[in-house]
Amino acid sequence: MGDVTTKDLQRLFQDIADVMTAERDNLCQLDGVIGDADHGIAMELGFAAAAKATDALDAAATDPTTLFNTAAKAFLNAVGASSGPLYATAFMRAGAAVKGKATLSDDDLLDVFAALARGIQDRGKAEIGEKTMVDAWAPAAAACEEARKRGDSLRECLSQALQAAEQGRDATKDMVANKGRSARLGERSLGHIDPGAASATMVISSIRSALSAE
Ligand code: ADP
Ligand code: MG
Repeated sequence: MGDVTTKDLQRLFQDIADVMTAERDNLCQLDGVIGDADHGIAMELGFAAAAKATDALDAAATDPTTLFNTAAKAFLNAVGASSGPLYATAFMRAGAAVKGKATLSDDDLLDVFAALARGIQDRGKAEIGEKTMVDAWAPAAAACEEARKRGDSLRECLSQALQAAEQGRDATKDMVANKGRSARLGERSLGHIDPGAASATMVISSIRSALSAE
């Protein structure tokens, strides 16, 4: 795949928005077990707003940084739940990671991926094992970085990231929540997948599909 353009990123946000619409009820159901049942709605609203706001930009006259910043603002304004500031920070960091670039190389995209994960972790201050979306994002970023150091292709790096995210998501089943709303449940959160880790894995899967050719 050649360099990724602002237009490609517009499509990426639309792709993720479509997935969140399709998965809204599943995500609400997961959140209903250990939270307040709104996670699917939050993610659908957030990505729909981000897709709409970024789509309204003139792709030919807008750099990726501006697109990410626009997505961040729209997501934050649309989402009152705790996922709002987490993803907004992720997009701001992604924008900062590629400041001044007109299009994004494979290397830039790996920087974007790392920045997304770091933004979520810095903003929410969650560590691996606390049953949050960090349990998908952090292992994904680590696996991506390892593959990158081996010199793997972008496609392979993002495939490794997705695999690690899926494992992390599934591992949240055996964790007791320690951050966010579900922390109140204590031991009762055991046995259930964290909704934020589930949606994070969907986001990562969309990124892999959209930004790296077969
Ligand atoms: P709320 O809990 O405000 O209703 P959502 O339902 O949209 O927000 O999102 C819940 C998800 O947010 C959780 O499943 C968890 O993955 C994630 N989350 C909550 N707190 C944090 C945090 N401090 N760091 C990272 N992720 C978090
Ligand atoms: Mg919720």
